[in-house]
Amino acid sequence: MGLRTAEDYLDSIRARALRVFYRGERMTSVVDHPVAWPAANCLAEVYRAALAPETQAMMTADSPDTGERVNVSNLLWRSREDLIARVKWERLVGRMTGRGALRSPGLDAINALAAVTHRCDRARGTSYHERLLAFVQRVQREDLAVSGAMTDVRGDRSRRPATQADPDLFLRVVARERGGVVLRGAKAHQTSAVHCHEHVVLPMTCGADEGAWAIACAVPSDAPGITHIYARQPSDSRRAEGSPLDAGLPDFGGCESLMIFDDVFVPDERVFLCGEHEHTQELVRLFGSFHRFCYGGCKVGIADVVIGAASLVARANGVRDRSAVESKLTEMVHLNETMYACGLAAAMEGRPTDAGTWIPNIGLANVTKLNVTRFPFEIARLAADIAGGAMLTLPSQADLDHPELGPLVSKYMAGDPEVPAAERMALFRLLEFLTHGAGAVYFLHESLHGAGAPEAMKILLRREVPIAPFEDAARRLMAH
Ligand SMILES: Cc1cc2nc3c(=O)[nH]c(=O)nc-3n(C[C@H](O)[C@H](O)[C@H](O)COP(=O)(O)OP(=O)(O)OC[C@H]3O[C@@H](n4cnc5c(N)ncnc54)[C@H](O)[C@@H]3O)c2cc1C
Repeated sequence: MGLRTAEDYLDSIRARALRVFYRGERMTSVVDHPVAWPAANCLAEVYRAALAPETQAMMTADSPDTGERVNVSNLLWRSREDLIARVKWERLVGRMTGRGALRSPGLDAINALAAVTHRCDRARGTSYHERLLAFVQRVQREDLAVSGAMTDVRGDRSRRPATQADPDLFLRVVARERGGVVLRGAKAHQTSAVHCHEHVVLPMTCGADEGAWAIACAVPSDAPGITHIYARQPSDSRRAEGSPLDAGLPDFGGCESLMIFDDVFVPDERVFLCGEHEHTQELVRLFGSFHRFCYGGCKVGIADVVIGAASLVARANGVRDRSAVESKLTEMVHLNETMYACGLAAAMEGRPTDAGTWIPNIGLANVTKLNVTRFPFEIARLAADIAGGAMLTLPSQADLDHPELGPLVSKYMAGDPEVPAAERMALFRLLEFLTHGAGAVYFLHESLHGAGAPEAMKILLRREVPIAPFEDAARRLMAH
């Protein structure tokens, strides 16, 4: 089939009879609902970018798995260059959309499974790797959007899967039927799952007595038994008001859902791990770290927009040439390029796995994400400093369009006379969206918690970058 057009992608999702609820009501179309459209369109943008002459080279790659040109969102990384390109195209899409490349969790899931299924097959004599490659080939050929579903709802955080009050708080196999398994449970915070064709389901870390929870597999998004509860976001209802100015960023956005599996049957050929608990920790390590290094591209791209908007707001306020503003913008750029440098370094220091795929440097991937848990908050603070109070006290589009109020709003919302008041207001709203509205889910909260809370990075960093060699270095140099 080759690369899909954005329209073909959107139609293919429209055609799926998904069970999705938003505010207690069934969503009749996850594409055309005004709250869901920006997220669907954001995913469609990655399809558009793969065909647009100016972005095609970056958003597609030659796949050794199919021998065809495929979307980078479905590529198994086979070189250091693939990893470096990942950071770069993530930044491009973040900058193009103010959100990011919503197929990325699926990309990380298939790459993590490529390494782990290969290792499991060698240790256990299973044949998961071959199944995975067959799945990936289909995904690449049909240019499918894939989500990556690892985060279980997890109930009491101090308890493991087997000791929870309710065993369904981690997704588990409740029955093994002839030719497949039956899944029950729920995955939380599922990015774009309602807009994907396939979900790659991964387990969290399981112990020896927790084989039932050690399940990795691919599930079609329209499999019977799946229900989504679509997440609310700050200011999401502005999408439905028909006021693009108030929406802040009307064309793009993201969405998450609580994805519930109510006895979903998965045939054996779609199962990539089932009971091999000893491989789950490595799966978590790789999936988490792959997603962490890519934030050195995707969150950087969003920050590009925040920095640009802050600079334009300063222009609209007539203070862009002041040294205090320049200094704050420079500080924002410094923080942002530091995140980018870490992402690129993790890619540069990547290495091949036994499966022939490549992985980034795990220590540096976690350093990247630790910086990402902090720097966007400081960038947002500096943007708010530059913007002033109007970013959060602005009149609405209805006031601007009002026959009597409109001229007053235009008169009193004016800044630099060269900049129309409506343009100044649109810049405030864009910054508001990215740092306080629905966009803050991604620029701030996902930067903190996506791919794991900060402590998860520190745990891996302690393992990957031991202090002992530094002690040795100090011992060697100290006076004896
Ligand atoms: C916008 C967004 C998109 C996301 N998209 C996806 C996705 O597509 N796919 C996916 O699988 N996941 C996704 N996630 C989930 C993400 O990986 C989790 O949010 C993250 O792992 C943190 O888990 P949690 O939200 O359950 O928070 P918690 O784990 O409850 O963490 C809250 C706090 O409790 C602490 N804590 C937790 N457990 C313990 C413990 N045992 N001891 C001490 N402290 C503890 C944490 O360190 C943290 O400080 C997404 C999250 C967000 C916010």
